[in-house]
Amino acid sequence: VSVLPIFTSDSAIVHQRAQPIDSVTDEIRQLAENMVETMAAAPGVGLAAPQVGQALRLFVWSYHGADAPSDGVIVNPRLRLRGPWRHRFWGEPDEEGCLSLPGLRYPLARAERVLLEGHDLDGRSVQVQAEGWLARIFQHEFDHLDGVLYRDRLRRRWRRAADHEWRTLHPEALPQWIPGLDGEESDFVDS
Ligand code: ZN
Repeated sequence: VSVLPIFTSDSAIVHQRAQPIDSVTDEIRQLAENMVETMAAAPGVGLAAPQVGQALRLFVWSYHGADAPSDGVIVNPRLRLRGPWRHRFWGEPDEEGCLSLPGLRYPLARAERVLLEGHDLDGRSVQVQAEGWLARIFQHEFDHLDGVLYRDRLRRRWRRAADHEWRTLHPEALPQWIPGLDGEESDFVDS
């Protein structure tokens, strides 16, 4: 099991739509194991295959918040949004971060409840009802499979601020980083 380089917003692959997985081979299982290891090292609560350079519809998550401790791997997921949108009309939404935009945190409204469906690595069907932070994680990771970063969904003023902060943090392009070798995601935060 090894920690993989994480591709950032400066890499084309995280902006591309990923392909469905026809069959779960040993290579896919190995990829999923390495993704879990990489997510733990980052550390992060979710990681999608395009973020480690594989344009495949697969993501992993590990969320141990108070409301819904949950770990998993999902292949070819579908996601249904079940609203309401948290803080859509009142105040600022919770802040999100992304291992492909290390160091950034910006507020983004997400659906409060979702239903995630797909398959596990043994071909069994998976159905997870989620709310709150876990629902946010699923929406974030699912978007990665369509080449969408949370930055793309930010309100205009936050999107501008995010782009500016990214270029300030990384004046030279940062196409990828390696958890452990380059530190942890929080090390990129400009404080
Ligand atoms: Zn992300």
